[in-house]
Amino acid sequence: MGQIYNFNPGPAILPAPVLERVREELPDYGGTGLSILEMSHRSKEYEAINAEAEARLKALLGLGDDYRVLFVQGGASLQFAMVPMNFLPAGRVADYLLTGSWSEKARDEARLLGEVRVAASTAGEGYRRIPRADEITPSDDPAYVHLTSNNTIYGTQWRRWPDVGGRRLVADMSSDILSRPIPARDFALIYAGAQKNLGPAGVTVVIARAAWLEEAPRTLPAMLRYATYAKTNSLYNTPPVFAVYVLNLTLGWIAAEGGVAALAARNERKARVIYDAIDASGGFYRGHAEPDSRSLMNVTFRLPDPEQEQLFVREATAAGFVGLAGHRSVGGVRASLYNALGLDACAALAAFMADFARRHG
Ligand SMILES: *Cc1c(COP(=O)(O)O)cnc(C)c1O
Repeated sequence: MGQIYNFNPGPAILPAPVLERVREELPDYGGTGLSILEMSHRSKEYEAINAEAEARLKALLGLGDDYRVLFVQGGASLQFAMVPMNFLPAGRVADYLLTGSWSEKARDEARLLGEVRVAASTAGEGYRRIPRADEITPSDDPAYVHLTSNNTIYGTQWRRWPDVGGRRLVADMSSDILSRPIPARDFALIYAGAQKNLGPAGVTVVIARAAWLEEAPRTLPAMLRYATYAKTNSLYNTPPVFAVYVLNLTLGWIAAEGGVAALAARNERKARVIYDAIDASGGFYRGHAEPDSRSLMNVTFRLPDPEQEQLFVREATAAGFVGLAGHRSVGGVRASLYNALGLDACAALAAFMADFARRHG
């Protein structure tokens, strides 16, 4: 194989040192003679990994003991249902800010379980942008306000957080968690499937105010109640041991790289290289997102026609750029630039884009 640049939208690129460490440790974890895949989740080795992952995530987000980190299975998609199951009681309403397909899915699940209000939506404009502050109309006393911080499919991102006036804010951060500093304490609950920016598929992190987790109805089945995970350090039943292990290594890598602020500076540079290639193409490439809503994680763009888009993806794949086909619901091209992707990959893609435009423009 020649040089491969991994622009996959998810599961996605992992840091090379993490993969190397996994390879080294896989047959024999910490001198136990056992693989991490072969040992009990009640072993002191695994409990240390589990505890370290929670501590690292809190440290990277600047959170203290009033927040809990939970490791749950079922993906971000199960969180679409768990959030309203735990926090949308009868007689209350939950507000949803719609900025793309994932926020629609979250809204749809909540609708099955309780009363939901759409407090902002840019669906009418093809989700090309994030709502402006004056377009957001929260309910007086909602159970919570839900948003999707980065719209993986459309390539838009909340660059300024909405002011929800003290209402509980819940965010799906699956595709941009730990890619930039956030005011974590402003969020009552954050969830993220690990497979984009945090690690492999199989584990979803939930970061929530500890006191809120206690409020969920006791009538919920144990596996669907956040309090079960909080009380047992996410060890109520067998957790996704391998996924949490790789997650913990990835969190260690982020800290070693200088933390979230250092990654954010790098992510800004990476995205700028691709957006500059779009903007310098004289209209050959057209970004889907409006400039002030552009995502630093998923860059979405179109070419003059679908045939050229297919040719672009085909030629790019042959040249070693993997994962660039746009989501089937939007089409075009999508370059996902998660934390583990290097600036070199973005520079190489920008050069490929300029060359393709010269040959086909
Ligand atoms: C990928 C993604 C999801 C779905 O995640 P699963 O873990 O596959 O359920 C949800 N929300 C966002 C923002 C995503 O990017």
